[in-house]
Amino acid sequence: MCMITGLKFFEDLVNLFYPRICLACGNSLYAREEVICTYCRFRLPKTNFHLLRDNPVQKAFWGRADTESATSFLYFSKGGMVQQLLHHLKYRNRKDVGIYLGRLFAIELQQSVLFENIDTIIPVPLHPKKQKKRGYNQSEQIALGMNQILKVDLLPDALVRTRFTETQTKKSRYERWLNVGEMFAVKNKYALRNKNILLIDDVITTGATLEACVHGLQRENQLKVYIGSIAYAFD
Ligand SMILES: [Zn+2]
Repeated sequence: MCMITGLKFFEDLVNLFYPRICLACGNSLYAREEVICTYCRFRLPKTNFHLLRDNPVQKAFWGRADTESATSFLYFSKGGMVQQLLHHLKYRNRKDVGIYLGRLFAIELQQSVLFENIDTIIPVPLHPKKQKKRGYNQSEQIALGMNQILKVDLLPDALVRTRFTETQTKKSRYERWLNVGEMFAVKNKYALRNKNILLIDDVITTGATLEACVHGLQRENQLKVYIGSIAYAFD
């Protein structure tokens, strides 16, 4: 067993005996609670953008990417509970946080006519080196949770990164931003023809990665793209 695999195995083992505490407030969880306590669940900073046609997330993509509807489940704020939850998902091997938040997000989306046609879910692919280090793609975990509710086609490998970002590290931030548009491609374009695709990410900040994904999806395919992220970091 190599060291990284061994480490992951150890982390998984530890998580089996993880103390059952709310990841937002630290209180003990009751038997039926997962990830966060009921109190914290009701104080999740929901955006309710999925109910608004021209919401701030949708507007962020105007003129940049052709999307049917776009939304984020929660507001992200520095030091807030959403940042804390996503930190556990990304850096503490807590895949269950992604699945849990994905389920809650999907339950909300089911209430919206703006997202009713979705037949395919695709998570934003992680950089392969990052995925190897982390052991999983956090957006795929979110997508898995969402699909437990939505029960459509989940295609985690449909979109691939066409270029390693290492080649871009020497460039300026602006140059990288310009370049990002060429970083994604569809593996099998026929599989996605005429699909209504929900693209999933963990956080929307600049939206550049999602924009690049939409372009990658639409380059040679007749399809519609919807965007959903767990969090929205606004300026
Ligand atoms: Zn709590």
